[in-house]
Amino acid sequence: MENLVFFYPQGHEAHSSLGHPERPERITALRQALQSAGWWDVYPRLDPLDLTEEFIAQIHSRLYLEHLQLACRRAASLDADTYTTPASWQLALNAAGGAAATALAVWQGAARRSLALTRPPGHHATSQRGMGFCLLNNIALAAHFLLTLSAEIAKTAKRLAIVDLDLHHGNGTQEIFWRRNDVFFISTHQSPLYPGSGGLNEIGEGDGRGYTANVPLPPFTGDQGFGAVMETFILPLLDRFAPQMILVSFGFDSHWRDPLGNLSLSAGKYGELIRRLVEWADANCEGKIALFLEGGYDLEAGKACIQAATAALLGEEWRDPIGPAPQAETQSWRSVLRAAQRIWDLPAVE
Ligand SMILES: [Zn+2]
Repeated sequence: MENLVFFYPQGHEAHSSLGHPERPERITALRQALQSAGWWDVYPRLDPLDLTEEFIAQIHSRLYLEHLQLACRRAASLDADTYTTPASWQLALNAAGGAAATALAVWQGAARRSLALTRPPGHHATSQRGMGFCLLNNIALAAHFLLTLSAEIAKTAKRLAIVDLDLHHGNGTQEIFWRRNDVFFISTHQSPLYPGSGGLNEIGEGDGRGYTANVPLPPFTGDQGFGAVMETFILPLLDRFAPQMILVSFGFDSHWRDPLGNLSLSAGKYGELIRRLVEWADANCEGKIALFLEGGYDLEAGKACIQAATAALLGEEWRDPIGPAPQAETQSWRSVLRAAQRIWDLPAVE
């Protein structure tokens, strides 16, 4: 078994728009950081799986898929934030296929952990539309892939958890699994901020009621707040739901240096959060955990965060060269956490 497998989005440079923050340099920086840490040449990079349109249409409507393909042919934007190029459709398919390939490797036991450098990113893409720089919802497609696996490939997953640590609410992933009870979705995000969803009371509906959890954090929540949310909210809910594998929407835009938001996480704490999820997975689901890249727009923060996360996946020591946020952390996260604990009937502890 490999300790780690990667997905790298070959040719992703063709998806770019002058001056846009979601730019190819993001991935180049992450690759350099993985190379300089000595991990890049040691662990295999998987090719994307060839996902059929029939399969993708179980997550995204056929109307949206047609609209997206047409927009890409014309290099038209989907909205004010979300550009496409003629290469973007194939690159979006590759990113989703890479997400599925790495998730499958972990699920089958071919790899202990995985890290997919998915670009274009995915967690804002809903069943009906792309938005927020996202075209296809990579992590949702990877989760749905494991939940619908044919028995000849591997046993079919029954219960998965998605933990979304991106600065922004993973509204697309939430919407896709809103009425389902086979995926437990937990998102931490800055509030108020784009896309505006992710309130405490958004907990799913129908069969999915009680399978979506949100922690909308005030600006300048940092290492202390995130640590408390992990220990007294995310991990207890994982205990309750008992997923067979954890999938992580790993955006590094919650880092204090990020230009798009005001959360105050350090790279060292990102690593600590991933390490706690890894420990949970080791104790409860055969160590199965897979990371998928979402946002993150400061390149120095990105390099540090990807090293922190990879070291956590591998169980290696790592020292944060950037360090904690210079400004004091707000304490108003405490009332949000307490409200979240009340809604979920968890003990009011920090
Ligand atoms: Zn983001």
